[in-house]
Amino acid sequence: MRAESDYLIIGSSHAALAALSTIRLQETEKTVTVLTRDRHFPYSPTLLPYVVSGDVRPEAAILCDEAFFEARRVRFERSAAVAAVRPETREVTLEDGATWHYDKLLLATGATPVLPAIAGLSEVRFHSLRSLDDSLALCAELGRARSAVVLGAGLIGMHAAENLAKAGIAVTVIEQRAEVLSGYFDAEAAGLIAARFASHGVAFRLGCTVAATTVQPRQRGLSLRALPLMALPSASAARWSRPPAPAPGARDAGSRSMTAPKSRPIFY
Ligand SMILES: Cc1cc2nc3c(=O)[nH]c(=O)nc-3n(C[C@H](O)[C@H](O)[C@H](O)COP(=O)(O)OP(=O)(O)OC[C@H]3O[C@@H](n4cnc5c(N)ncnc54)[C@H](O)[C@@H]3O)c2cc1C
Repeated sequence: MRAESDYLIIGSSHAALAALSTIRLQETEKTVTVLTRDRHFPYSPTLLPYVVSGDVRPEAAILCDEAFFEARRVRFERSAAVAAVRPETREVTLEDGATWHYDKLLLATGATPVLPAIAGLSEVRFHSLRSLDDSLALCAELGRARSAVVLGAGLIGMHAAENLAKAGIAVTVIEQRAEVLSGYFDAEAAGLIAARFASHGVAFRLGCTVAATTVQPRQRGLSLRALPLMALPSASAARWSRPPAPAPGARDAGSRSMTAPKSRPIFY
């Protein structure tokens, strides 16, 4: 199949939606098409942790539907992952082989989670939390998992921890820095937030860098007792690839009263 569009937007999240609205303000006659690899209508990533806990239904995270695109005379193509862009011929090719010709192209493809270089990680089942399908996959596991490890105490990691705990999972957060949310709050505020989480049963291992994951043969049968969740910075902030040295005096909240019993499995 070979199709055409004056404006071709790849991606269907916030950047894409803002762009298409702005384009339509300027260009009333040109054709505009949105191609997204997602199989859903655009949704708010902000709500994904609440989809995991069940506080928000997946449908409630949807930002706009077919009527939105029809009203703006925008063609919206789901499950349309772009595999190649050829600027010299102004063409893109989708993974299914379809080709689109464009006059103007916007890449609004956002970010993807960066996986840290942890030995053995590929042997362990883990999730990331970036897309609606990620949160649905996590939901599907919750009935079977009793504990989860969240790597990273940034905004997404803390959101994930909050909502996994709400879903009844025993959560341990591992963070290489000495405080939670260190990019956002000072030590005092971060301590208050961590204590609040701890009062809801969330355990912390701060100042800890995960070096390796292992699966002991005798624990294979218990593989769903712990559900590692990667809450990673986006590709544009790939801090995991060069983790900073631990802060002087970095402390391990695991030794404080806010933590869960040490016997809780960290990795299965
Ligand atoms: C759990 C979570 C909570 C968040 N909470 C907040 C918050 O509270 N406040 C805040 O300001 N920000 C928050 N963010 C960040 C915010 O969601 C992002 O900054 C924002 O989504 C970026 O929008 P974007 O359009 O640039 O890219 P993205 O949202 O990453 O979207 C990229 C789009 O491109 C598509 N795509 C990628 N590759 C291809 C391809 N090859 N072919 C076709 N389509 C492709 C994807 O399917 C997707 O539609 C949160 C993010 C997450 C994951």
